[in-house]
Amino acid sequence: MTAYIGRFAPTPSGFLHFGSLVAALASWLDARAASGRWLVRMEDLDPPREVAGAQAGILQALENYGLHWDGEIAYQSARHAAYEAVIQRLFQQGLAYACTCSRKQLEGSNGIYPGTCRNAGHSPENAAIRVRVPELAYHFLDRVQGRFEQHLGREAGDFVIRRRDGFYAYQLAVVLDDAWQGVTNIVRGADLLDSTPRQLYLQELLGLAQPRYLHVPLITQPDGHKLGKRYRSPPLQAEQAAPLLWRALRALGQIAPDDLRAASVDDVLAWGVAHWDAGSIPRVPVLPEAGLPTL
Ligand code: GLU
Ligand code: ZN
Repeated sequence: MTAYIGRFAPTPSGFLHFGSLVAALASWLDARAASGRWLVRMEDLDPPREVAGAQAGILQALENYGLHWDGEIAYQSARHAAYEAVIQRLFQQGLAYACTCSRKQLEGSNGIYPGTCRNAGHSPENAAIRVRVPELAYHFLDRVQGRFEQHLGREAGDFVIRRRDGFYAYQLAVVLDDAWQGVTNIVRGADLLDSTPRQLYLQELLGLAQPRYLHVPLITQPDGHKLGKRYRSPPLQAEQAAPLLWRALRALGQIAPDDLRAASVDDVLAWGVAHWDAGSIPRVPVLPEAGLPTL
């Protein structure tokens, strides 16, 4: 049996909020309950979208909330050579191709690339690089969401692995880095469920091992908005650590006793590790409990 390696991979385009705490906590608990390692990887692929102070703020919040990581933090900004080498290889093998379509040309295709440049033979300079997808469905068994299937040709299309502006795409970087770091178990928010089949395809293409997946439900506001990029909830405050960890446990279906709300961060986390039951995580979003302040 391979030893468990988990990870949390935040993008520094914002600070951690309650929704990201739920995902980070689930990932941490799943690793600790398995006596595994838990890594942090900064997904700093897109400097223009980075928020000043977000990297330090994210790491500080993890510390304040007792979610200590193992080893050195990995930075995707230091991994460009590895991404580029794979892109060159896929390009030379004809598995990826250059796309010069403008945003305007792609309007109306519903985010699914129509394949315009597939056989155009464009040069890779000043072009986006797309990977060719097969007309096949990819599926996997998520530990919480169950079977999830996506037809790559119809539902994803040939997707970008290097943007026209030269930045590397999340889908490629995440697959290469999870393999490079030996990650065995990915626990993350359900907003990435529909990215997973593309990632499975890249793993297959590159001969990489497939990790196990667990997608935790997204936390929504009482009005149904999801927390996060579009609908901001306040960044996590240090003073709120124990009660918010308690609420995050409840959101994950882990029924922490009421009196634990006033306990220390370490006590809340110790309870969480001792009682961790991934089988109790709800598939659907949990609304913040009635009577508690809105997040
Ligand atoms: N960096 C991604 C995000 O913050 C998460 C990547 C992942 O967990 O696969 O949304
Ligand atoms: Zn194109």
